[in-house]
Amino acid sequence: ISPLDAVSLRADFPILAEQVNGHRLVYLDSAATSQKPTAVLDAERDFLTHANSAVHRGAHTLAAEATDLFEDARATVAGFVGAQPEQLVWTSGATAGLNLVAYAIGNATLGRGAPASARFALAPGDEIVTTAIEHHANLIPWQELAARTGAVLRHIPARADGTLDLDAAASVIGERTRLVAFSHVSNVLGIVNPVAEIVALAQAVGAVTVLDACQSAPHLPLDLPALGVDLAVFSGHKMLGPYAIGGLYGRADVLEALPPFLTGGSMITTVALDGAEYLPPPQRFEAGTQPVGPAIGLAAAVRYLEGVGLENIHAHESALAERMGAGLRGIPGVRLLGDAPGAERVGLWSFDVAGVHAHDAGQFLDAQGIAVRVGHHCAAPLHRQFGITASVRASTALYNTEDDVDLFLDAVRGIRGFFGVTDELEGANA
Ligand code: PMP
Repeated sequence: ISPLDAVSLRADFPILAEQVNGHRLVYLDSAATSQKPTAVLDAERDFLTHANSAVHRGAHTLAAEATDLFEDARATVAGFVGAQPEQLVWTSGATAGLNLVAYAIGNATLGRGAPASARFALAPGDEIVTTAIEHHANLIPWQELAARTGAVLRHIPARADGTLDLDAAASVIGERTRLVAFSHVSNVLGIVNPVAEIVALAQAVGAVTVLDACQSAPHLPLDLPALGVDLAVFSGHKMLGPYAIGGLYGRADVLEALPPFLTGGSMITTVALDGAEYLPPPQRFEAGTQPVGPAIGLAAAVRYLEGVGLENIHAHESALAERMGAGLRGIPGVRLLGDAPGAERVGLWSFDVAGVHAHDAGQFLDAQGIAVRVGHHCAAPLHRQFGITASVRASTALYNTEDDVDLFLDAVRGIRGFFGVTDELEGANA
């Protein structure tokens, strides 16, 4: 691990030089979407300027060039998560990937797949397990799948400190469990979840595992085959890449056995008017014209991340998280969500400011050029567990500095005073 020079890295991200409300931009909203280095902007523009063409079916030179760039991008992004190119399906993002899996399993349940797809079929009373801390993207597709198939949804609960309750998981995951979907890192808590333990519980009952790696992919070294999950999703725009591109990783035998979700051009071998044969993965899951420019942009993004080094990024962001956590703990009225002692985390904290609505706090910070997220961050059930409807979330990336964190902490120290909240007042209002 070598120290990361975030101050120099910032020159690669043109937007970080922007002024916001008369202040230098302090961007602490990378968990929602990350900023993009020039290398990513250039890669997409160069492709559109010099090689733009639809892939896979052109007889002309540009089509061949575009196909090479597109498939090179697949190999690069697959390699980034420890996978082979044919194990990476392009999607428009994590939400699309999770829906793809949920609908493919629904299709397997309808008998719409090769005989091997029967292993995914759900019978009424079978159980789908998620956790209490999931992003809505990893919750609602499973609610819908349960409603369509008669399967029952169950949840691994979270403890008061935000960690998953593994004792409870051992009883939630049982004989009827067919699928376990959970996040690697929560987008609200920043805690790295115990993937190996959950995978072991799922494998012991023969359940398929689906990992939401959105909030780990940009921040930690990620080897999906080594984690042992069957399927995993991530979003390009959260890992320095473009919007509308993401990945679905699958174990070879799992992707091989899954029926398609979207159908149409590009995913077939032979077509008759009354039936069709499908290509093997990954093309079986990539119906229609592909997001070639975004895929090439995402490959440039992961090359950038690899150039800096994921170990270095994790160490840098962990140090920022520690500095931010220590500072926030010392501010009267601030309550951190998921402040689990000793937990491995990424550089992200959500918190509540007693007596001040998260939206007011967010606007106060914005007036000083500090960009944070406010609301339930698409994890309403988890906020309900903490007894609140909204929180403020500050999230870092490799380009944040100690100075960013200190400016943020100074501003947070001023929130309650600005809104005239004192402990006595808050008590009187309660
Ligand atoms: N899962 C997690 C943990 C997330 O943080 C997000 C984005 N906030 C998503 C899923 C959904 O990603 P996207 O909207 O890019 O599909």
